[in-house]
Amino acid sequence: MPAEALKCKECSTRYPLDARYVCERCFGPLEIAYRPPSSDGAALKRRIQAGPHTLWRYADFLPLEGPARSALPTGWTPLVRANRLAERLGLREVWIKNETANPTHSFKDRVVSIALARALELGFDTVACASTGNLAGAVAAHAAAAGLPAYVFIPADLEAEKILSAGAYGARIVGVRGTYDDVNRLCTEISGERDGWAFVNVNMRPYYAEGSKTLAFETAEQLGWELPDRVVAPVASGSLFTKVARGFQEWIDADLLAGDLPAMHGAQAAGCSPVAQAFAAGTDVCRPVKPNTIAKSLAIGNPADGPYAIDLARRTGGSIESVSDDEIRAGIRLLAETTGIFTETAGGVTTAVLAKLAESGAIDPDERVVAYITGDGLKTLDAVRDSVEVAQIEPRFEAFEAVEAQEVAV
Ligand SMILES: [Zn+2]
Repeated sequence: MPAEALKCKECSTRYPLDARYVCERCFGPLEIAYRPPSSDGAALKRRIQAGPHTLWRYADFLPLEGPARSALPTGWTPLVRANRLAERLGLREVWIKNETANPTHSFKDRVVSIALARALELGFDTVACASTGNLAGAVAAHAAAAGLPAYVFIPADLEAEKILSAGAYGARIVGVRGTYDDVNRLCTEISGERDGWAFVNVNMRPYYAEGSKTLAFETAEQLGWELPDRVVAPVASGSLFTKVARGFQEWIDADLLAGDLPAMHGAQAAGCSPVAQAFAAGTDVCRPVKPNTIAKSLAIGNPADGPYAIDLARRTGGSIESVSDDEIRAGIRLLAETTGIFTETAGGVTTAVLAKLAESGAIDPDERVVAYITGDGLKTLDAVRDSVEVAQIEPRFEAFEAVEAQEVAV
């Protein structure tokens, strides 16, 4: 295993690679520390290219002893060149990383793959999570594939599509009357009381977070081992956003990529934008907010990695932006109409921020931009319900002609 320790992000104290997530000395978050790669860039590249078409091809950069026995292949999702979207935005080169193509239709399959694999290595017998929606389905599905019981804790007012699909995999679903931040607090408490439980985003969080690096690895490999100039990605806790940059940096350090980190732009919904607000105010202190937005999968009012996301955006020449619910709905339509990819509200946030950046001139028209579309529109159908019209007619040709004439008139 290339990982050698858990390390505090604040004070650098080291701990063994077990299930812990907070520093005993300073209460800072823990992350994985790796040994420098034992092979040169060329050998690493050959090993990656010979690997499976899943995220396990990046095992040299993951904190595991061996390939997991989980049977649910994850990752290696399409990177789609979006020429019609680029044209609409006045840009030359826009790519969409389409994470709806994962087994449970969101990027969460990646983080769960890594957390669950490590949980199995450490001997846990139950998997659990605190979820804003997509994680619930991913934990339920991967636990089912591995043959482990799963508990998923969610805010009780979550979209029905996300609750029902998680339930179909056989997970025990617990709806908590409160916000995601309330759910997270409860799960932290339960985690301390249940020894055999691997909470993927609580006690397994350092491993879980590493899964998002594979988004960067795949992107670079699919671009022909090159870096994008700019990245637009959603910010909820800030974990995905910071780990994507970490992935690019690890490959720069390992001589797999040449150049500097892309400018990193984070996308939030205005109804839950503590990180964007702090960025705009020029501080790195994210004041917790009570979420009120249709982008429920991004509705984390107290984001753990907010300060790190702000620092990253600043030092790469990026930004953290926010968009209104109407802009999110328009973003969903814009992406669907120009690429054929139907995204959930979080992807609407990302697309709307991409459009905003293009309009404001923040993106040079010749730059290569990658936007991360993290989840599927079929999970948040309410967001588009009012914007789609269905013409109802009698089964007669004349009735159809009447409808056709109306369409033309519009
Ligand atoms: Zn510490």
